[in-house]
Amino acid sequence: MDRNDFFLFTPLLYEVVTGQLKPEHVARPLGRLVPRTVAFVQATVQSVDLRSRIVRADHGELRYDFLVLALGSEPNFYGIPGAEQYALTFKWLPDALRLRQFVLDRLEQARHIGRALRITVVGAGCTGVELAADLHDWVRAPAAGQGAAAGGSRVVLVEAMPQLLCPTDPRLMRATVDALRSREIELRLGAPVEAVQPDAVLVRRGEVREPIPADVVVWTAGVRPNPLVQQLPVPFGPGGRVRVEPTLQVPGFPEVLAVGDVAACPDLRGGYLPATAQVAVQQAAAAARALRALVDGRAPQPFRYRRKGEILGLGRMGAVAEAFGLRLVGYRPGCSGVWYTWPGCRTGEIGRPSRGRGRGATRWVPRRGKTRISEVGRTEYVDQSPAARTS
Ligand SMILES: Cc1cc2nc3c(=O)[nH]c(=O)nc-3n(C[C@H](O)[C@H](O)[C@H](O)COP(=O)(O)OP(=O)(O)OC[C@H]3O[C@@H](n4cnc5c(N)ncnc54)[C@H](O)[C@@H]3O)c2cc1C
Repeated sequence: MDRNDFFLFTPLLYEVVTGQLKPEHVARPLGRLVPRTVAFVQATVQSVDLRSRIVRADHGELRYDFLVLALGSEPNFYGIPGAEQYALTFKWLPDALRLRQFVLDRLEQARHIGRALRITVVGAGCTGVELAADLHDWVRAPAAGQGAAAGGSRVVLVEAMPQLLCPTDPRLMRATVDALRSREIELRLGAPVEAVQPDAVLVRRGEVREPIPADVVVWTAGVRPNPLVQQLPVPFGPGGRVRVEPTLQVPGFPEVLAVGDVAACPDLRGGYLPATAQVAVQQAAAAARALRALVDGRAPQPFRYRRKGEILGLGRMGAVAEAFGLRLVGYRPGCSGVWYTWPGCRTGEIGRPSRGRGRGATRWVPRRGKTRISEVGRTEYVDQSPAARTS
């Protein structure tokens, strides 16, 4: 059951904003993805009654013997004044389309008054870093056709913590900071946002409140679990996620499993697994095995997460990656277009074809001889962008 009749491949949502991909390349009809033996119901869940084993949706009620909660998350504004009102979110397909149109409109306005466009991205996790890089390349590209306004566009990435939150490896983090700075993306680290206004983001610098003027503000500062789970009589873990047993079962309700962003799943080292697609995809397979065991009257096995690596796209300037024990920094000297088969890597499924990737995947094959990938530590990051070459 899902409110949408399509599956959204979020790691390619950036390319919908920049116009490199169309919505149909990142959203695949669920009817074609699920096997014929699965009945798909398009409906919006309104409440879940765990005690009576009933899911209530806008199209009626559904009784169940077993239930998997996979309701995902939504943007978290942390109650910051003006954030929900004035910042654009970047989570769902309509968000990407809205953001694209908003940036194009603001570019046009900026061009009219002969001023550069100012974009602020709040939150330097993976989504914020990648979005800042992609927006920067897009609005500055001559193809944007916006003349001087586009050329002088300013992209600011704001983060409350003193460092980027992604990538996690310190050397890759340094390479990412260098790459962003070399492209004149302004980094404001250790600058918690106190308020968002129609034309500015207010950040705190020690005792001082500093306004960052902005025509476009995008909120990528974190997510919280789908609010539907808050009403459930279950234990909660960090960030209000449903705390599950290592078997993904919800305590007190062994017939209910929770997976993905909605679940706080122990990592078996005293912490909890992150809310990422890489975790969600593996949990989905584990939940299917657990259901099989429960139906057969066996005890489900604990879920074991296998981290497969991390890839962070940095727009046209390249990417940083950590996989198979290697840390890699890659770039395409002076080329446009992105260059590697990262959609697979980013969910930790390196090299495995997926029906869900559709045309997107075929666009990401590296062009021989133009891609350079260096192992961090052995080769220095070299920025070959036109901006770097002239400075
Ligand atoms: C722009 C972006 C890029 C990302 N890139 C990466 C990446 O590169 N690698 C990575 O590991 N992670 C990435 N993530 C995170 C990743 O998308 C999530 O961790 C993952 O999608 C979580 O899966 P899920 O199944 O828990 O939730 P979701 O994928 O959010 O699915 C939840 C589903 O529940 C449905 N739903 C919600 N409420 C209702 C309701 N009331 N009734 C019916 N249906 C409902 C929704 O329509 C949706 O289909 C990215 C996220 C974003 C926003």
